Amino acid sequence: MIDLTITQALEKLKSGEISATELTRAYINRIEKYGAELNCYITQTPERALSDAAAADARYAAGNPLPLDGIPIAMKDLFATRGIRTTAASHMLENFVPQYESTVSQKFIDAGTVLLGKANLDEFAMGTFSKTSFFGAPINPWQISRKLTAGGSSGGTTSAVASGLAIAGTGTDTGGSIRFPSAITGLVGMKPTYGLCSRWGCVAFASSLDTPGPIARTVDDAALLLSAMAGHDPKDSTSADVGFHAHTPLEPVLGDGKKLRIGIITEFNDVEISSDMKRLFNARIADLKSIGAEIVDVSIPNILDALAAYYIIAPAEASSNLARYDGMRYGLRVDGNDLIDTYKKTRAAGFGTEVQRRMIVGTAVLSSESYEVYFMQAARVRRMIADSFNSAFNQCDLILCPSSAGSAMPLDSDLSPLEYYALDLFTVAMNLAGIPACSVPAGLAENGLPLGIQVVGRRFDDMRVLQLAKHIEQFAGIDNRPTKIMGK
Ligand code: GLN
Repeated sequence: MIDLTITQALEKLKSGEISATELTRAYINRIEKYGAELNCYITQTPERALSDAAAADARYAAGNPLPLDGIPIAMKDLFATRGIRTTAASHMLENFVPQYESTVSQKFIDAGTVLLGKANLDEFAMGTFSKTSFFGAPINPWQISRKLTAGGSSGGTTSAVASGLAIAGTGTDTGGSIRFPSAITGLVGMKPTYGLCSRWGCVAFASSLDTPGPIARTVDDAALLLSAMAGHDPKDSTSADVGFHAHTPLEPVLGDGKKLRIGIITEFNDVEISSDMKRLFNARIADLKSIGAEIVDVSIPNILDALAAYYIIAPAEASSNLARYDGMRYGLRVDGNDLIDTYKKTRAAGFGTEVQRRMIVGTAVLSSESYEVYFMQAARVRRMIADSFNSAFNQCDLILCPSSAGSAMPLDSDLSPLEYYALDLFTVAMNLAGIPACSVPAGLAENGLPLGIQVVGRRFDDMRVLQLAKHIEQFAGIDNRPTKIMGK
């Protein structure tokens, strides 16, 4: 049962072939079997899951099911869930139980989903391998004995979905945290347009970049999730008054004489990527050409400076957002000799190394001596990148680029902070520009591991991004059924 996609499961639930309770039990059993080994959940919620499933079954029986009724999902442990501990994978929030529900998780409740648990991640979503988690890193189910990373920061969700410990799940993407982990686990991960999904109740990292989005095994499934989670929210001042409603299966945007111009970013041609990535990228472009796509070169002149701009802006916003963890209102508190000493002791004990590094960098770039030369300069680069994307979209409808340079690396890879940051080269520019980007499987590398490519669109062109991603998914045709990946 755990090989079903959302689309397939909904059909079987509607026809009565399976019940939501049976489906949920199948996942709970599998979580019991592999949850500890994969370390993809920080908190499991089997009781909540079974009561959600019973409610879904009652609605099916009454003939009035909700859009995603009975679909068992994993929620990244960055979304506040009422009465369920929400840690952000930090010692600081290890025992934090919110009194409120985030907008995104509430929307999933309203759509009838079943909550299996809170998925592991990098501490406060800062990282690329989910190794900065206070609870240890989740494992990639592909070639499981090799102990590869499931990516980060949404690596708990990708580990869970790829291994069949959830049918799908949520992530957040500040600089690539949905797309990179999805790419290296053979999944579809969509960073929607900034503002499409509410950030309210989602633990803040860098507020002008943070973007909730779906992680699933197919593009249609991702579209179904996005339909549930998108929508205007008066509680988030940057929430857009535009919804997203997908009818699946998604309509093709190519074939039958349809025309589409696809841009390739020339600046990325000089970036070193694996020979597998090159081969698969070119193969998928040839496939799209064969059904009528026109390929054009586009230039985003400052795109290689996106990393530098991101690693100034994101830490700057983080240093401000994380100032709230002072031991006074919620989270960890380590008492000191006086107020200042309590702040110091609490923050030194509560935050891990990477989070402390970001706060120090962020505080430095915002200081009066550095503000003009670093922060303002980064803000200008950001504006130029967004403008360049706008001009590029006068020459093409959508843009394609790799999701990463190569496939999943071992968790024990010894990388410096700067080497980790460099892995975000292909993803951060879209966050700076606020535009939608979806990572979709491109095929398998020679070593048998999956690779992804991104479809990038104009602001609020999320639907077409997914539609083109679906063509790529069909051409790539990778088998990402959990029992196939895990071999058990
Ligand atoms: N890897 C990037 C970082 O460490 C992106 C993280 C994210 O998107 N949350 O900041």
